[in-house]
Amino acid sequence: MSAESMLATREASGSEVVSQEVQAVFAAGELGKLIEAVVRRGYTVFGPTVRDGAIVYDRVESAQDLPAGWTDEQAPGQYRLKRRDDDALFGYVVGPQSWKKYLHPAEVRLWSAERQGGTFRILNNEAKPKAPQAFLGVRACELAAIAVQDRVLLEDKYRDAIYGARRPGTFLIAVQCTQSAPTCFCASMGTGPAVANGADLILTELLGEAGHRFLVKAGSERGAEVLAELKTTPVTDADLEAAEAGVKQAASQQVRSIDNHGIKELLYQNFEHPRWDNVAARCLTCANCTMVCPTCFCTTVEDVSDVTGDHAERWRRWDSCFTQNFSYIHGGSIRTSGKARYRQWMTHKLASWIDQFGSSGCVGCGRCITWCPVGIDITEEVRALREGDSHGKP
Ligand code: SF4
Ligand code: SF4
Repeated sequence: MSAESMLATREASGSEVVSQEVQAVFAAGELGKLIEAVVRRGYTVFGPTVRDGAIVYDRVESAQDLPAGWTDEQAPGQYRLKRRDDDALFGYVVGPQSWKKYLHPAEVRLWSAERQGGTFRILNNEAKPKAPQAFLGVRACELAAIAVQDRVLLEDKYRDAIYGARRPGTFLIAVQCTQSAPTCFCASMGTGPAVANGADLILTELLGEAGHRFLVKAGSERGAEVLAELKTTPVTDADLEAAEAGVKQAASQQVRSIDNHGIKELLYQNFEHPRWDNVAARCLTCANCTMVCPTCFCTTVEDVSDVTGDHAERWRRWDSCFTQNFSYIHGGSIRTSGKARYRQWMTHKLASWIDQFGSSGCVGCGRCITWCPVGIDITEEVRALREGDSHGKP
């Protein structure tokens, strides 16, 4: 299949030429060729791998690096990997990491300085990726999270140069979810599990009697060009139905949700709700929820020097509104209690984010629920506020 014939239907979207209609099926064994085709175009490919008992994103050089036959079991404060009874390559939901580790890295050296005689020299040595990046296995909620960070870090008054050096040109290969974890609630946030657009290629993994294969749709010209290098077969009605049923199943499996109706007003009107004391009594202010969140973007700057005093460095690191120092201004921290910090986080995510950036700061990935050591659940906290329910606690 040539790229030209696949691009019969075209639609301009910014600078990209997007094909909405290019669909095909390829056998799972072709996935390695897809990775090779992207690498040949100069990208470094990152995707899901198994490490330290979790699905984590890392460099992927072949399909052998993918988590074949693994799935994840998630619940508030719980995560574990488990063997599947098939060889699904994307048979898990989401792990603790998100793509922000590559686009908005946890640590970046901004510059270093060296003493030279009676003066010093500043070196601007912030590390940039050597090659453009490609992400394999991007979930619908993660595409939504990337769009949220684009809005915050590229499209606002202050453009973030570090994000700006990484994000443009990123090749995105999405994989639609055909199963959800009990912690997922993307359906209620309107961010998944179906992938609508925003990716160069959109895959749906199909297993069953017709064999292990992928339904693929090209979302851009460069995606269609990669697809043209694979051995594909035409899509059948049965393939389309299987993919649709899988995504519908993922949506119907979701047991958590957020009712977003009037949510901004709900949060703004409940600064003094007793539920904040309730959640503060459980919250350890460990900041895990903000570290795993694919949209949280706050950072701090730290200066370090060696013992000789001849070399100093300035680093930018992820920070969190759950740390006391984060709100330190002249005279002290303005959010000294856990209650103030949890309230700040949730009110920003679900209310003031809308005022600042025009959308919710939450995409419903559920990571903050899974990775909270005490299982605090943002959906439950919203419900409690809405119902005026403090569960009989302070
Ligand atoms: S707040 Fe929680 S559920 Fe929402 S995007 Fe962040 S980690 Fe995911
Ligand atoms: S809500 Fe949970 S993950 Fe977040 S700071 Fe509190 S204890 Fe840590």
